[in-house]
Amino acid sequence: MADEQESASAERVEPEPAVVSDGKAAAEAEIEPGKSPDEEPRIESDESAARQGESVEIGCPVGMGLTDLRCGRKLHFAPGGPDERPVCLMHSKDPLKQSGLLYEAFWLEFERILEDAGEKEAHFERFVFPHLNLSKRKFQAICRFADAIFTQEAMFGDAVFAQGASFFNATFMQDAEFWNATFTLDASFRGATFAQDADFADAIFTQDAHFDSAAFTQDAHFWKATFLHLADFSRAIFMRDTNFGDATFTLATDFSYATFTQDANFNQATFTQDAVFRSAAFMQNANFNRATFARSAYFNGATFTLAARFVETRFQGTASWWGSRFLDRAEFRRTIFDPQTAGHESALFALAAFNKPGEIVFDEVDLSRVFFHDCDVSQVWFTSSARWANREDNRGLAVYEETIPLKEYRALELKRDGQRDYDAVAQIYQQLKKNYDSRLDYWTANKFHYGEMEMKRLAVPTSGPLLGLRRCLHRRLSLVALYRYASDYGNSYGKPVLWLLGILALFAALFPFPGVGLKRQGASQAESYASVWNVQKGYAENLWTEARLAGKGAITAVDTATFQKSAEYAPAYPWGRVLAIFETLLTSTLFGLFLLAIRRQFRR
Ligand SMILES: [Zn+2]
Repeated sequence: MADEQESASAERVEPEPAVVSDGKAAAEAEIEPGKSPDEEPRIESDESAARQGESVEIGCPVGMGLTDLRCGRKLHFAPGGPDERPVCLMHSKDPLKQSGLLYEAFWLEFERILEDAGEKEAHFERFVFPHLNLSKRKFQAICRFADAIFTQEAMFGDAVFAQGASFFNATFMQDAEFWNATFTLDASFRGATFAQDADFADAIFTQDAHFDSAAFTQDAHFWKATFLHLADFSRAIFMRDTNFGDATFTLATDFSYATFTQDANFNQATFTQDAVFRSAAFMQNANFNRATFARSAYFNGATFTLAARFVETRFQGTASWWGSRFLDRAEFRRTIFDPQTAGHESALFALAAFNKPGEIVFDEVDLSRVFFHDCDVSQVWFTSSARWANREDNRGLAVYEETIPLKEYRALELKRDGQRDYDAVAQIYQQLKKNYDSRLDYWTANKFHYGEMEMKRLAVPTSGPLLGLRRCLHRRLSLVALYRYASDYGNSYGKPVLWLLGILALFAALFPFPGVGLKRQGASQAESYASVWNVQKGYAENLWTEARLAGKGAITAVDTATFQKSAEYAPAYPWGRVLAIFETLLTSTLFGLFLLAIRRQFRR
């Protein structure tokens, strides 16, 4: 984005042998009105200089502006040698120009340049400014202050720049006041150095604002500043407190690689378009409380050395902390993750590192569309009011990695062998289960346990013969699938009880079947539904006999389930015995699952 115009302001001075004033010239004579740097430098001959055999350039040699333009103003010889080489009054570092005649001469020339420029370019490149008060001034010209040095306070408060203003590489040695200033066209402070406070409070940047690589040595105030176009603060360095509170960023905002050595305050700032804080370094507190990000916010690779506060911050696009490092605490309290695009994730913490996970707080936050994969959340503090998505079958909680449509861009990372990487998702569930377990919130932990087991069930084979069949079997008949049918992976104690009752009823009905039969102790014949039917008797009487037999079957089923040895009725050999063995196996397994579920629900 380097502006050629600005980079071209590097000196391009062709030494030309010539003769010039001898330095004895009085201040009032130094500036020649009517001579602008655009004109051909006028050659002056000075006999005394010539006599001394000096070979000096024609006028001030400082390069200005776009082309090979040289200043060409009459040289000003400052006593004490503050300048490395003879330059004009405008470019001289002569401390004497801070007041008196030289001061007046300086400003006379400044005004003349502005007036001559009209609505064209006014060149102040590399000027060394004495104390400056241009508050409330309206600049009609394109103002070029590139490489200028403001030795004293620079007061531009309430100033209006009707066209572009370039302070590229300028140095503000004292306070720079631009509060309430209006920049109608592009404003560039690229590479500028603010040695003291920089005050841009309430300033309005109608077009691009470039502060990239600027250095703010003291406080930087951008409170309530308005950026109606691009705001570029990439690689800027803020060495003291930085205040962008209530600022408005209407277009793309770039703070990538910016360094905030002290507190960075973005409270209640509004970002209407994408805000990029990629690889930014927040070396003290970073406050984004109640800020609004209407589009995406990228904090990818950013480092938060102290507290990162996102209290009541509203993210309406995707907020990404991909690979961010939180070295201390972070507060996501009442943070609103509300992406406007359906299906998009609300926040992304993939590969983020939490050095003090116990101090990363998510409180009253909707986490239903937040990505946590490749990031350890086993110790992050999710308060009881952090909300997760419910599973479709309402039997547990789901993370977004499980439900995001695989066609979404972000889901690419979750794809393996053409299907969702269920093992990776299971890992998140494991971490969350561990997290809630360690905080003794077993109910929530169980809900993530369900998700974890579901992922194990869904993680089907991806290669080998009969893939379709094996996948189907794995999902429906594997041990983990049966575990789900039997007790919702140990989350339900009602389910195994129902199964148990069902199994008892089934076997009660099966035992008296012909071919199986119930045998009374000591009896020689087994009884079955067929054998007890007596054609000599009435229908009702027979039914009664059958019902009694069914009752005996029920008692036998219970006896078998409870390992009664000397029961009155026993299943007849051989098929009754086989059924009994099956029943014992099933009922004891279900009873075990019941106990396990009870334990899971009520452990302490
Ligand atoms: Zn000059």
